Amino acid sequence: MAQALVGQLGGQPVLILPEGTLRQLGKDAQRNNIAAAKAIADAVRTTLGPKGMDKMLVDSIGDIVITNDGVTILEEMEVEHPAAKMMVEIAKAQNQEVGDGTTTSVIIAGELLKKAEELLDQDIHPTIIVRGYKLAKEEAIKHLEKISQPITLEDKDLLVKIALTAMSGKSIERASDALAKLAVEAVKSVAEVKNGKIVIDRDNIKRVKKHGASAEESELIKGIVIDKEVVHPQMPKIVKDAKIALLDVALEIKETETDAEIRITSPEQLQAFLDQERKMLKDMVEKIAEAKANVVICQKGIDDTAQHFLAKKGILAVRRVKKSDMEALAKATGGRIVTNLEDLSEQDLGYAKIVEEKKIGGEAMVFVKDCKDPKAVTILVRGSTEHIVDEVDRAIEDALGSVISALEVGKIVPGAGAAEVEAASAVRKFAQKFSGREQMAILAFADALEIIPKSLSENAGLDSIDILAELRSAHEKGEKNAGIDLEKGKVVDSIKMGVVEPLKIKTFAIKSATEAAEMILRIDDVITASKVERGGEKTPPTETPEESE
Ligand code: ADP
Ligand code: MG
Repeated sequence: MAQALVGQLGGQPVLILPEGTLRQLGKDAQRNNIAAAKAIADAVRTTLGPKGMDKMLVDSIGDIVITNDGVTILEEMEVEHPAAKMMVEIAKAQNQEVGDGTTTSVIIAGELLKKAEELLDQDIHPTIIVRGYKLAKEEAIKHLEKISQPITLEDKDLLVKIALTAMSGKSIERASDALAKLAVEAVKSVAEVKNGKIVIDRDNIKRVKKHGASAEESELIKGIVIDKEVVHPQMPKIVKDAKIALLDVALEIKETETDAEIRITSPEQLQAFLDQERKMLKDMVEKIAEAKANVVICQKGIDDTAQHFLAKKGILAVRRVKKSDMEALAKATGGRIVTNLEDLSEQDLGYAKIVEEKKIGGEAMVFVKDCKDPKAVTILVRGSTEHIVDEVDRAIEDALGSVISALEVGKIVPGAGAAEVEAASAVRKFAQKFSGREQMAILAFADALEIIPKSLSENAGLDSIDILAELRSAHEKGEKNAGIDLEKGKVVDSIKMGVVEPLKIKTFAIKSATEAAEMILRIDDVITASKVERGGEKTPPTETPEESE
C-alpha cells in the first residue's frame, strides 16, 4: 500500500516529503519489486538457447524489430518499473562487458528472486538470503574457474565453435558456419599480444550493414569500408597498390574569417584573384602528389577545383569521412592522419592493396582493402531485408563478443547447461558447511542456477524434469561437461558436441545477476516522487507506482 512519509510533532502530522510522493514499505515494496523483476525474466525466458523463440516488438511509431536477443528485447520494451529497470541494466552491463549471455544473466536474476520470495515466505530475513547468495556466488565462480579449460589464438576450431554457440538461436541457421568463421577471422586479425596477454579492442572491428544479399554473402574486409563515394566522376574508381593520404584538412580556400573587404575594381583584378585561389588549390594538390599519394581520404571538404586537379593526376579522393572511420583507417592502413598539408610526407601514407568504389545494394561505397597486417577490419553484414540484416548483425555481435571474451580471459567452459549444473552441484556441496537458514539460502542459489538447463530443455519441448535429473546424476559421477543435446533430448558431453562458451559469460552473468537480486532484496522502502508532467504540472497520485503484470 502506498503511504505518505509522515512524522509526528506534538500529535500533529508533519509532511516530510512533497505532496503526491508515493511510498511503499517492507513486504509490499519487496513483493512488488520481485514481481516486476520476475516478469522481466519471464519475458525473455522463452528465447533462451538454440530452440528459443523470437519476439516481435512494435514500437510506438510502428517500427518492428524481430529478435531473439535478450538485451535488444529489453531495450525495446521501455520498461518503467524501477526494479524492472534494474534487470534491464544487468542485460546492458552483460552486453557491454561480455557481448553475449544477456538472456542468461536476466533469467538467473529472476530465478534468484523467485527462490528468495519462497524464503521470505518462510520468514527468512532478506539479510540472511543476501549473505547466503553472496557466499554461494563466490563458490560458483570459483568452481567454474577451476573446471575451465584454456584456449589460445591457435585453437581455430574451438574458436569457431564458440562463435557458433553464441549465434545459435538467431534465425541465420544456413549462414552460421560462414558467419562464425568470419567472426573468428576478424578477431584474429585485430588481436594483439601485449606482455603475453591477448588484447582485443572491439572498436577495431567495424560492422557495416547493407541489405539486398543473403547472409552468407557477408564478407570480411581486411581494411575499412567507407559509406561515401569517390568525389569526382573523372577520378579512377579503383587504385591498386594504394598509397593513401589521410587528411584532416580541408582542400578548400577558407572564407575570409574577419570582415575584411576585398575591393575589386577591375575585371583583371577579379581574374587575378581567382587565379590566385586556383593556384593555392593547385599547390595543395601538388603537395599531395609530391608525397606520392594516389588516394586521398579527407575528413573535411574538397573544393571542386581541387577535385579537378586531383582527377587530372589520377588520384582517387573521398571527402567528409567520419572521424571514427579516419581513425580506423589509420589503424588499418598504417597511415597517419595529417592535420597540416605542409607536414605531409611519404612516411605518413597508409597502404592498401586495393582501394575501390563498389555499388552495394544500390549505393556506392569505398572499400579500402587487403591492407598489410591491418589492426582494424570491417565486416560487411548482409541479409535480404533490413530486419534480417539487423538480426544477422546482432548474431555477429554476439559471436565477436564471445570469441573476444574467451581469448581475453583465455578460458572456456562447457555450454548447453553443463556449466550451470556443475556450478550448482559444487554450491550444494559447499552448503553442507552451513546450517539452518543460511544453508537454505545457499541451496536456493544452487537451484536457481538450474533454471538455465531447465529453460533450454523446455524451450526445445523436452521434459525438463527428466533431463535435469539425468544431468544432476551425470555431474555427481564427475562428468563435468555433461549438457543437453537438444536435438536428441539426451545428456551428452557439451564440449564434444561443440557447445562451448567463454568462462567470462558465465562468471559475469552469475555475478551481475546475484548483485541485482541482492540489490532488489535489500530494498524495503520505495519512495516515488510524483511525476512531473511537461509544463511542470504534477500527475495525481495513483495507488502503486507502476503495475508490473
Ligand atoms: P544469451 O543471451 O544468454 O546468450 P542465448 O539465447 O544465446 O542466450 O542462449 C545461450 C544458451 O544456449 C547457453 O546456455 C548455451 O550454452 C546454450 N546453447 C547454445 N547452443 C546450444 C546447442 N547447440 N545445444 C544446447 N545448448 C546450446
Ligand atoms: Mg547468446
